[in-house]
Amino acid sequence: MALPHPPTADVRDGHTGGTGSSPTRLAAPTDDLHAELSQITSALRARLDWLRIGGVDGCPLPAQRPARNVPPVTRSAPVADMPRSGAPSSFQRPAAAAFHPNAPSPESAPSDDPAALARAAVEHASRYATRPQSAAPRAAVRPAAADSATAKGPSEIVYPELASLSPGENGLRVIRDFIGDCRRCNLCHGRNQLVFGEGNPAPWLAFVGEGPGADEDRTGLPFVGAAGDLLSKMIKAMGEHAQKLGFPELSARLSREQVYIANVVKCRPPGNRTPEADEIAACGGFVRAQLEVLRPRVIVALGRTPTQFLLQNAAPLGRLRGQFGDWHGVPVMPTYHPAYLLRTPSAKASVWDDLKLVILKLAEQSNLMPSGPQSST
Ligand code: URA
Repeated sequence: MALPHPPTADVRDGHTGGTGSSPTRLAAPTDDLHAELSQITSALRARLDWLRIGGVDGCPLPAQRPARNVPPVTRSAPVADMPRSGAPSSFQRPAAAAFHPNAPSPESAPSDDPAALARAAVEHASRYATRPQSAAPRAAVRPAAADSATAKGPSEIVYPELASLSPGENGLRVIRDFIGDCRRCNLCHGRNQLVFGEGNPAPWLAFVGEGPGADEDRTGLPFVGAAGDLLSKMIKAMGEHAQKLGFPELSARLSREQVYIANVVKCRPPGNRTPEADEIAACGGFVRAQLEVLRPRVIVALGRTPTQFLLQNAAPLGRLRGQFGDWHGVPVMPTYHPAYLLRTPSAKASVWDDLKLVILKLAEQSNLMPSGPQSST
């Protein structure tokens, strides 16, 4: 049987009895009905095959994604070149799975039931088209503002290999091994060292910066230049303040060694420019995976890039800082980057206000707050 082309049009016609179904067909003999049903089934199979290789409007091509062990697939392959029915060819399933680790297998639908095939296809397509989103904000977290539009750009790459890792050191090791000698975006060409991140693998507090600078690129460690020195001082001041507020257990967790520090991109952007959207799309999955295995109680986003990345909110940092956002249930405090503070010392007071809120949030998350009225900041 000849395959319909394009599949979408035939599926729609088959379902609605639109232009492709004349009234005489309603009275057609059983053989004709069987033939028509068989044509519909075939069209649905073709559509499903199309979806399996990523044939959804607006989605990136499988071949553009650097998921490992996935042979390249060309999106523009004509439908007529695809397997027409039955089991998918060996390249199709890994390509689809590479995008959606949690997607139900479309093959699990009964293969001869058009309705089930259609449901599976629609579900598969809608999952495919959904970017990873933060969990819904909890009550204590700022509500989504009118300006919470996400900056448009390439969809972030989802790395199925980094889903559901063990917490702490083991998970971090898997992520580091997976990143390897990364060539997934153009930043690899100018880097000397990839800067993975460092700190306690089970921290209470994690800091996320933008990307390595010259000193970090040279040493392979995050925040070691002038901005890093200032960050160290900020963390030390937080520890001292927590002690002053009567939280010694928290104070012990607020040192450079006890927190974790990472960046949105792992390689230095040339001239310390802001990372491009495609670089963040290629690298963002790594810091997400790191945060998932670190399980910090609070995250501090240093500057605009990590704030927009974690909160998916394109509002100016000046409007977002000072209030907690949410990343998968973890409170996120956006604040100014230490490099900005070096240029604008007058902003230090605002950052200190933000960090004092972080201390209180950590105390609250760790059940250290005395009952009754809150301690003063
Ligand atoms: N700035 C960042 O955002 N990260 C670093 O690691 C250093 C400077």
